[in-house]
Amino acid sequence: MKDLLKYLIPLQPMIKKAMGEWQHGDKGYCITHNESYLYDYETNSCCCNKENILIPLTIDPVNPKRGLWGMLEGAKVLKVYANGSVNLRVLVEGEFEKYYEADTPTEAILKALCHQWEVEVK
Ligand SMILES: [Zn+2]
Repeated sequence: MKDLLKYLIPLQPMIKKAMGEWQHGDKGYCITHNESYLYDYETNSCCCNKENILIPLTIDPVNPKRGLWGMLEGAKVLKVYANGSVNLRVLVEGEFEKYYEADTPTEAILKALCHQWEVEVK
């Protein structure tokens, strides 16, 4: 998860817009304490109570638009090969097809979202 922070941090404004309010059971990450936790209405996030990183599910089966896969627009196909490599193909209307390669499906989708939302990640 930590290696994905380089995508998740710059994408936070768009992710939070797509997900809306924090919901019971959402996964958060506290940069100060370097740990993840599950958001709970009662305990209200990490003990330090700072603005934390909201970590979406890769696919949210209950509310698809709150998951990374649902945030990615256009026709898309994600393939995971036997050797473990991942290839994501996205076709956005009026645009050329784009390919994203990564070590995990989540990383491939995050790369595509960076492109979709014009966020540059080194
Ligand atoms: Zn904390």
